[in-house]
Amino acid sequence: MPQQIVKRRSRGFICVNAHPEGCRGNVERWVAGVRDNIPNGGAGPKNVLVIGASTGYGLASRIAAAWGCGAKTLGVFFERPPDGDKTATAGYYNTAAFHSLAQQDGLFAASINGDAFSDEIKRAAADVIRAQMNPVDVVVYSLASPKRTDPRTGRVHNSVLKPVGQPYSNRTIELDSEKVVDVTLQPANENEIADTVAVMGGEDWRRWMELLLAENLLAEGARALAYSYIGPEITWPIYRDGSIGQAKKDLERTAADLDAALAGKLGGNAWVSVNKAVVTQASAAIPVVPLYLSLLPLPMKKKGLDEGPLEQIRRLFADFLCSGEPPKLDESRRLRLDDREMRADVQAEVAALWPQVATENLRAITDFAGFQREFRGLFGFEVEGVDYDQPVETDLRW
Ligand code: NAD
Repeated sequence: MPQQIVKRRSRGFICVNAHPEGCRGNVERWVAGVRDNIPNGGAGPKNVLVIGASTGYGLASRIAAAWGCGAKTLGVFFERPPDGDKTATAGYYNTAAFHSLAQQDGLFAASINGDAFSDEIKRAAADVIRAQMNPVDVVVYSLASPKRTDPRTGRVHNSVLKPVGQPYSNRTIELDSEKVVDVTLQPANENEIADTVAVMGGEDWRRWMELLLAENLLAEGARALAYSYIGPEITWPIYRDGSIGQAKKDLERTAADLDAALAGKLGGNAWVSVNKAVVTQASAAIPVVPLYLSLLPLPMKKKGLDEGPLEQIRRLFADFLCSGEPPKLDESRRLRLDDREMRADVQAEVAALWPQVATENLRAITDFAGFQREFRGLFGFEVEGVDYDQPVETDLRW
């Protein structure tokens, strides 16, 4: 393919293309952030499977395992490859950059691009593990998907982001028009809740772990992790107590079952890690959350507490996975990385600003500009050091 100049194209707020060099810049920055920078990383995991490994928390986990611990990694994700002059998705370019940097540094990396919910992709992952990275000592489950086809029934489940039980009204940013508006979200019905649990709950994580256990692909002391969110009360009706929250509760129940299975067979563990709110493609799609994500960085930056996915996952590895100690869990057996976000002084500042935000002062009193920049950054745009007037190769492979 001849090289081409790639300018950001958007449909409303969403970017519909991605910039390979910008994505590479992001991956390089994260690699630099963990390289030899995880205390005791050498004692950390050596073979790591990351499901949902191409963007957000999953990509951060994969990078931390590889450059922080020297681990071999297998990444599973669902991304669109380049097609003629159409660019690939950002997660595809992130992965191309990951492989190129891993190769430079002599790190083993394998990737499978396909539907992680399917039996076929699970079997393909098991084959790679058996041949090249047996046994796996850490499995990270970091999928965020709007739908799932159940391989046993062929049924397609669509998840919804709705409150449960009663309508929820709050202010939100209408991202396309940059207006602050009041929204009322109607509650999910029983079927919608069940579908959301089928997509984002623990069933698929369980199927992955059962396969790995049955095929003897897990190490003594293997650990499995899945990610969740709790957040402040102001977002509970749409998150913690909403349809997605029901799925996350199911994930926690699954963690308890998997923990018992792994402990019994291998002396291993399964945990849910509660992470901080960060700007990702998944989180920007949740109503009301963009307003929260435009306010949260203000107190967190001022207090020197702000973290993105990479800083969060670096802490996960340093404090919980590589420390050599049994990790400290909360009363519901969860790892907590959201302690800084949830600090009373941080939340008090967010709560004080919340009712003041209006369309007219959105950019003046919130960090909406930072939210927008970070969001565009996810697609490789507005990344420092990239010359967007230069043609780039978009037809990348690994
Ligand atoms: P993300 O959108 O950045 O990443 C989602 C990943 O899932 C990508 O790698 C994508 O390719 C992959 N994926 C989606 N559907 C797939 C499929 N069918 N098959 C294979 N791969 C598929 O999302 P994220 O925000 O990093 O979320 C990851 C996890 O972290 C989720 O469980 C989310 O709830 C949790 N979490 C997110 C936040 C946040 O603020 N973003 C906070 C706490 C917890």
